[in-house]
Amino acid sequence: MHGVDATEVFERVSHPTRVEILDALASAQRDAPADPWLAYTELREAVGIRDNGNLNYHLDQLGDLVVKEDAGYRLSRVGMGLVGTASSGVLDTDWTWGPVDVPGECRQCGDPLQLRYEDGVLWLTCDTDGHEHGLWVPPSLLEAHPEDTLVERIAFLENRWGELTRRGICSECQGNVDGELTRLEDGGHHFLGHCDRCGSQHGLPVGLFLVGHPDVQRFYYEHDVDVRSTPYWTLDFCRPGAETVVSTDPLRVRVDVTHDGDTLSLTLDRAGDVVATDRS
Ligand SMILES: [Zn+2]
Ligand SMILES: [Zn+2]
Repeated sequence: MHGVDATEVFERVSHPTRVEILDALASAQRDAPADPWLAYTELREAVGIRDNGNLNYHLDQLGDLVVKEDAGYRLSRVGMGLVGTASSGVLDTDWTWGPVDVPGECRQCGDPLQLRYEDGVLWLTCDTDGHEHGLWVPPSLLEAHPEDTLVERIAFLENRWGELTRRGICSECQGNVDGELTRLEDGGHHFLGHCDRCGSQHGLPVGLFLVGHPDVQRFYYEHDVDVRSTPYWTLDFCRPGAETVVSTDPLRVRVDVTHDGDTLSLTLDRAGDVVATDRS
């Protein structure tokens, strides 16, 4: 496995001057993506350091977060990834946003739903404690995208989480996710996956796990609906508990996707593989 030494990365950026260097290089990248290079003197000026030895020392400490060539300095891909993560706002737990009204109603009480970003999480909530769900959406998406596209893009990201998990890819670190259909305390089932690499647990309603399946996409496509960007919380088959246990040994779980009087039934085995489909 590729070693992830997070400590080393944090140490590299644990000095305000090094953060300023990354910041200056990130600005240059934003201002002129085709020519992001900063000459040594430009960089020194941007960071406000007089002493070359001092600047050299910090550049040295940044290691391969920065690329040096004749034209000067720029962020490496790794450096861009780091700056991208920091600037997505996910590290800022004080940032708040919303509430914004969204389609659909609370599965528990039927009240209208809103989105609200708080404590580092985008909450889908009816405003009653215990009814909220956390979505994996960073502040950058909420800040950077036109308001009339937000719900569709948030839905796309959430639905893609289902698709990635079904394909064994961790949405957090792209590591390998292993998992299976697991029984919940209330008797329902969900897909529970685990990433060895970053330790993320991915627990999804069976419907959300299936939303990117080609048969589900085709079914909706035939009804002129792009299910990839349809909020999963408005889709009945994505409701927790919408699945039916057909047999327990071996485990077979069926999900019925319905639209305009048509039904597509998918049966899954314990591993989450679709073992049968049926149109009626
Ligand atoms: Zn509610
Ligand atoms: Zn992971």
